[in-house]
Amino acid sequence: MSSNEPNILIVDDDPLVLKSLRDLLAIRGLAADTAIGGREAIVCLDQMEYDLVLLDLQMPYVNGHDVMRHINRKQIKTSVIVVSGETSFEAARDACSQGAYDFLRKPYATDELLITINNALNEINLEKQNRHITRQLRDSEHLHRYLVNTSPDIIYILDQDGHFTFINERIETLLGYSSRELTGKHYSYLVHQDDIEAARYVFNERRAGDRASRNVELRLKYKDDDSKHVFDTRTLPIELSSMGMYKDDDRSQKRTYLGTYGVARDITERKRAEETINFQAYHDLLTNLPNRALLRDRLGVAISQAKREKEMLAVMFLDLDRFKNINDTLGHVVGDELLQQVSARLKSCVREGDTLARFGGDEFTLLLPKIGKGEGDTSRIAQKINEVLRDPFIIDGNELYVSASIGISIYPRDGTDMETLIKHADIAMYHVKDTGKNNFKFYSSDMTTPYFQNLSLETGIHKALENDEFHLVYQPQINIKSGEIVGVEALLRWEHAEYGLISPAEFIPFAEETGMIVEIGHWVLHQACTELKRWRDAGLPEIRMSINMSARQLAEKKIVKYLADTLRDYRIPGHCLEIEITENTIMSDMDAMIHKLKELSKKGVNIAIDDFGTGYSSLSYLHKLPIHTLKVDRTFIREVNILQTGKSIINTIVAMVKGLGLNVIAEGVETQQQLDYLREIDCNEAQGFLFCKPLTADVVAQLLIQEPYAVPGSNPGMHRSRHRTH
Ligand code: C2E
Ligand code: MG
Ligand code: MG
Repeated sequence: MSSNEPNILIVDDDPLVLKSLRDLLAIRGLAADTAIGGREAIVCLDQMEYDLVLLDLQMPYVNGHDVMRHINRKQIKTSVIVVSGETSFEAARDACSQGAYDFLRKPYATDELLITINNALNEINLEKQNRHITRQLRDSEHLHRYLVNTSPDIIYILDQDGHFTFINERIETLLGYSSRELTGKHYSYLVHQDDIEAARYVFNERRAGDRASRNVELRLKYKDDDSKHVFDTRTLPIELSSMGMYKDDDRSQKRTYLGTYGVARDITERKRAEETINFQAYHDLLTNLPNRALLRDRLGVAISQAKREKEMLAVMFLDLDRFKNINDTLGHVVGDELLQQVSARLKSCVREGDTLARFGGDEFTLLLPKIGKGEGDTSRIAQKINEVLRDPFIIDGNELYVSASIGISIYPRDGTDMETLIKHADIAMYHVKDTGKNNFKFYSSDMTTPYFQNLSLETGIHKALENDEFHLVYQPQINIKSGEIVGVEALLRWEHAEYGLISPAEFIPFAEETGMIVEIGHWVLHQACTELKRWRDAGLPEIRMSINMSARQLAEKKIVKYLADTLRDYRIPGHCLEIEITENTIMSDMDAMIHKLKELSKKGVNIAIDDFGTGYSSLSYLHKLPIHTLKVDRTFIREVNILQTGKSIINTIVAMVKGLGLNVIAEGVETQQQLDYLREIDCNEAQGFLFCKPLTADVVAQLLIQEPYAVPGSNPGMHRSRHRTH
């Protein structure tokens, strides 16, 4: 029913009256239905809704009073104007007591009748509008209440003194309190003891706009009626944002502080993931022993302490003999199990306060702080280690024998800093290997160092640059979904005239120490750009070139300009270059690095975090940096074959990193099973021996011509052909 055109019913037993009334209304532009007599009126009223009824009282059989009774009984919503020849006061009173809007006497004065009808219609209209607005308000209130109460976050309002005036129902599912019991309570009722101070600044925040508090982490207490112990209350980690609420006072032009509005988010899942990742960052997944990073940390602390207290400490470098043999013949699964059993036996030899770490592969390091004077304590532990490894290990029905070669260096005798102590323990270990293995030796300065520690690196590298002994190989990075090669990582190789191929893992750390890496890095950049330009000029599909860059290179003052100039010289767009840096590089000088990376990013260059998970792995810095890609370290991918935990870690990393909108590359993918898993968790890209080892530039060009690359398990035929550089 439209509110503009009212529905009117005229009821009378006299057809002439009906007609004249209808004509009268028609002149005023009002249409009306007619009913002759009370019975027909009742039929009409039952079938249709009328805004207004003009009703005669005296009618045969069913009269006007009967009609009104019917209207009341059936609770029909309509207004009635009685138009009647009955003149008695009682008739009028009866009609009004039955709810008639007005009473007009026949013969009626036309003007009076029209005014009465008009008034009635106006009133009806107002009522309709009122009802409409009330309904809208109710719906909107409903909607808002629904939104607030079903929000995944806690939403609250505090009064000026910090008491809750509102808190949504989410509090009940999260912490067990009902919103009613919290209303009127002070916010500190919910906050963990130790966080009260921090909470003071956020919970009743008075600032608004950009200056208000955002994402402050706090702990809230669960409702736990049984708990009488203040200190072990269970807590919920939250992230709180809040702001002051104000009312503008028109007259005084002042703003009055009303209280605080805040939103708190449950961050349990994130905290748990961070904890797991932190643990993994400092521990070896296979043996659960501290890893290299944690060892370095502890060694640093132990050296400072030894210095202060004028004590001695020992570093043992331990390498398993023949482990590679077992691994190669019996396979990784047996090798891994062996490493686990070996670490369990090693652990039985150490004292509380010692750190046994897995350094990588079959290498372990043992840090012994506070050893007594002389070599006695340390010798005894080394001896014990050689002894506990003597009994065979039973794995898969195989009886396996391993022994260890142990090199030892002592602070301060063999070195006063971390690098020297590790290096000297390593050299001593090599001597044990060279002289029959299964033994231990203390470092002495007359021990000859193995080749690359001995070699004068500076001349070596200079010569390598002069004599063209360096070259680059390129490992394809593949889009897991489409099977296309989307990029290549440039990897450095040194073909030494005398010693043959030397792995970058061996000489890059030394090149970094001496600063030679800067010159090498320039060579790598130009070589990689030359090759990329060649591919582009040949019209091959556009791909990304990833280049590894060490902290020392990035620390160069003019590195940003240098990179930008190089890109311009080779006519390579910024997005075709990706710089791979490790977390340790960023941590070496966080502020300076952030600044540089932002500059680089402005030039369009992509930034990737390499070997993610082996360094600090703090997700908290990720959002501060202009990072495009995160490369999950090979150690995590390797675990996919072995451990369920390995899987959940990658899954967590991939999910979180994708949540930040970054590209994820899995490094070191070697098996179909790993690839299947990565595809399942929606990891973007992968590189590894499953696809191919690092290749020469010509072979890469060949592959690009044959695009799309056939990823095992995908259907490359289905994919679109890609746009070419020309
Ligand atoms: P990275 O950047 O993490 O490079 C990946 C390493 O993993 C490469 O070793 C590659 O050959 C190896 N790899 C790739 N797929 C697999 C796989 O499926 N299984 C296994 N087991 N390994 C795989 P590479 O070439 O020996 O390089 C070692 C490290 O040396 C690199 O690690 C990188 O940190 C550094 N590096 C290499 N080239 C350069 C360079 O030009 N500049 C700098 N600063 N560092 C470089
Ligand atoms: Mg890399
Ligand atoms: Mg890597």
